Amino acid sequence: MSKPIIIAIDGHASTGKSTLARTLAQYLNYVYIDSGAMYRAVTLFAIKNDLNTEQIVHHINDISITFDVSGQIFLNEENVSEEIRGMRISERVSEFAAIAPIRQKMIQIQQGYGRDKGVVMDGRDIGTVVFPEAELKLFMSASPEIRAKRRFEELKLNQDVSYEEVLKNILDRDDKDSSRKINPLRKANDAIIIDNSNQSKEELLQGALELVEKALN
Ligand code: C5P
Repeated sequence: MSKPIIIAIDGHASTGKSTLARTLAQYLNYVYIDSGAMYRAVTLFAIKNDLNTEQIVHHINDISITFDVSGQIFLNEENVSEEIRGMRISERVSEFAAIAPIRQKMIQIQQGYGRDKGVVMDGRDIGTVVFPEAELKLFMSASPEIRAKRRFEELKLNQDVSYEEVLKNILDRDDKDSSRKINPLRKANDAIIIDNSNQSKEELLQGALELVEKALN
């Protein structure tokens, strides 16, 4: 059996990073960590406790974030996996993700999950900051309209949301995530770009599996 590696998947909002990361983790029997879910959980904590971006800094030690083996996320022991997907979180998350002490805490947790390797993690700064030594780094993108359409089809099943709102949120988060001072969204120099605008899920997975096999050997 090959030695376990770290796979870092970064990229723009709603590019299918999480789906690909989860599928690769299942295939390899690795741990999957959705780092975006962690920033979403922090944002949920802030909203629930009515804390703004300045106040939250004083409450960082009151926030505990853990994952179970199936990838469900717990905020202070409560399963918030569904609740963090709503638009009210998507609309605020990039503000809270730009705060240095929050990022420090999340990065520490993320690096802990990678200590023994055998992890697939997706986010914005995984290949650049969290695991700059990752053996395989992917950077995913697709046209904003295609991403918005795919996300809208998912969200509309259980939320009252329009395509235009989803597109606006995606563009807004890309802009804030790329332009923030601390750990902005960037492609690592050694990351492989995957533009899946015109790829089916099967083609995307096939291409990624080939890269994984190369990285393992
Ligand atoms: O991955 P997802 O789109 O759910 O991430 C939600 C938000 O969390 C992003 O728009 C970004 O602001 C933040 N994020 C981050 N760094 C990561 C992962 C997510 O800043 N590694």
